[in-house]
Amino acid sequence: MLDKDIKKNISKCARCALCVQNCPIYEIKKDENNTARGLICKLLGYEKKHLSDNEIKKDLKICLNCSKCETNCPSGVKTTSIFAYKNAILNPSKISQRILLATKLLPIKFLYFINLFKKTPKNSLNSNVLYFKGCIAKAQHKKTYLDEILYNPNFSCCALPYLTCGDLKNYNKAKKRNIELIKKASMVVFDCVSCKSAIENYSELTQEDKSKLVFITDLENNFKSLKPNSKYKNKTVTFHKPCHMSKNDFQKIEKFLSSIDNIKYISLENIDSCCGFGGSYFIYHPIIATKIALKKAFTIKKSNADLILTACPSCTMGLRFNQLISFNYKKTLELRDFIHNELAK
Ligand code: SF4
Ligand code: SF4
Repeated sequence: MLDKDIKKNISKCARCALCVQNCPIYEIKKDENNTARGLICKLLGYEKKHLSDNEIKKDLKICLNCSKCETNCPSGVKTTSIFAYKNAILNPSKISQRILLATKLLPIKFLYFINLFKKTPKNSLNSNVLYFKGCIAKAQHKKTYLDEILYNPNFSCCALPYLTCGDLKNYNKAKKRNIELIKKASMVVFDCVSCKSAIENYSELTQEDKSKLVFITDLENNFKSLKPNSKYKNKTVTFHKPCHMSKNDFQKIEKFLSSIDNIKYISLENIDSCCGFGGSYFIYHPIIATKIALKKAFTIKKSNADLILTACPSCTMGLRFNQLISFNYKKTLELRDFIHNELAK
């Protein structure tokens, strides 16, 4: 059965199909069962007992949870939370996605397990402006620009990996810890847009709480040029917009990158197209993920950019994979590392 919130939400669907054209899974499979409109119709059938658990399980599992349908929905249906939550109930998993994430990271960062026993770097500043450092940056034991200027109280995981993996116990535990910290803070700064978006979707947060959540480029900063020894001087730089990034955050990033001297910023074509990685999606659905990745890879290749930036570690891994399959070996960096290592303060 569907819970009250889900029922209320899906009743808002006007069947307009505006979500269909942007769905990356529909683009590959051309099957409306896998779009937001199709999934909502199936959930309604399930509620009326016309469909069994098994008949909707498979279609829910194939959803990338990319939020593109939600962004384009004129009726404000919270599609991503509905699909992820219902999938978690119907496809529960005892294996936490964090273990899967660690496994994915191993070939790239084989020191992951050693790093687990080190303390996370914490700034001694005691402020109520907090740094939300995501799991992957913590696992990689990276010191970032935000570590230098903000207090890092060691938030839990944003909880989206638990939800998409069906681990509701850890999902609720992580959410509870994060909500407690957000309530006490005056501002929380993110350098991963996927973590930011996952937390913005917590239904327990008020509008006032959500207004405290900001992205790194919202901070006042003096970054206007590259460090004198930067290898990106006079190079062309582009940015991959992660699926969960809002239009507003993306516009700010474009403005920020365009304002830096000595680099040429160019926009990618089809800016909303997905990198195909989607957390552990690649592990469960490698063929669909590779088809999505190939489309992105050729858009990037066509851009002729020397450096590809993004603002989500999962997308970074996806884009590096894209470079391999399109034989386009250009550097891919996270925005936070570019700011930390390449820009003059
Ligand atoms: S865009 Fe929104 S209202 Fe329209 S079919 Fe999709 S979910 Fe329903
Ligand atoms: S979340 Fe993404 S993959 Fe899932 S239905 Fe919406 S647009 Fe399609």
